Order: sequence, then structure tokens, then C-alpha cells
Amino acid sequence: MGGVDKADQCLSYYPVARNQQRKYYKKIFRYLLSQAVWNAFVIFKKNGGKMRQVEFRMKLNEKLIEATVCNPSTRRGPFPKSEENVVRLTGRHFPSYVDESESRKKSRKCVVCSLKINENGKRVRRESRFECKNCNVGLCVAPCFEIYHTESNL
Ligand SMILES: [Zn+2]
Ligand SMILES: [Zn+2]
Repeated sequence: MGGVDKADQCLSYYPVARNQQRKYYKKIFRYLLSQAVWNAFVIFKKNGGKMRQVEFRMKLNEKLIEATVCNPSTRRGPFPKSEENVVRLTGRHFPSYVDESESRKKSRKCVVCSLKINENGKRVRRESRFECKNCNVGLCVAPCFEIYHTESNL
């Protein structure tokens, strides 16, 4: 009986001890992280980087968030998903003729049409002579150009 009481007593102390331990690890982790960021910044500067430390940290955070948010296997188009949405739905977009010299072709595959499935169960392939230079994708002028720049769930 006495032994059980003792064990209960020990257990009730335990959470406190564990909490303290966790805080202690957090402290070390934060220290190591800031050290790692500082090291990266020093290397960046040595290689001729021109950012201030604050900017560097902001950019680093941005890139880290991007890396966790965007999953390369679901990536579509030339942008990571999160960035793509921002670029695609905001900013200035104009249809322009497909640049012959760049692609060596007068047309590009329309990305909106290629999301559709035709009656044979295959992806629709439609070439368009127009593209959005800002998004770097081929698009039919109507209605795909508008769809691409207004629909958030493509
Ligand atoms: Zn289209
Ligand atoms: Zn665009």
C-alpha cells in the first residue's frame, strides 16, 4: 500500500519536471536555430549578398513557408501553388501572341483546356496562339484567359 502511494506521489511530480525539460529544449533549439540563420547570413554576405539581416530573415521565413506549403508532386505550371495563386489572381495580365523565337512554335497548349476531360476520358489538348507572359502559360483568349485569372480553384 505504501509503495503505491509513493508511486502516485512521484507521478504527480512528473509533469512539472517534463514541462521544464521541454522549455529547456526549446531554448536550446531556438539558440541553435538563430545560430544557423546567422551562419547562413554570414555565408550569404561572403558570397556578395546585398541584403540586410532583417531582410534576409524575412526572405528565409518566406522560403521556408513556401517549402512547407508547396508540395512538388502536386505542382502545376511554372509557379509553386501558393505563389501561383497570388500571381495568377492579382497583378496585370494581358494576352499576347506566343513568342515564336522563344518556343519555336506559333502556339502553346492552353492550360485551362488541358484541365478538362473530353468524352473519351482524355485531357483536352487545345493549342492557342495566345499566352499570358506574366504567368508564362498558354491560354485561349476566350473564355480561358478570364477563367484562368479569376477562378481560385483550378
Ligand atoms: Zn483554352
Ligand atoms: Zn496571367
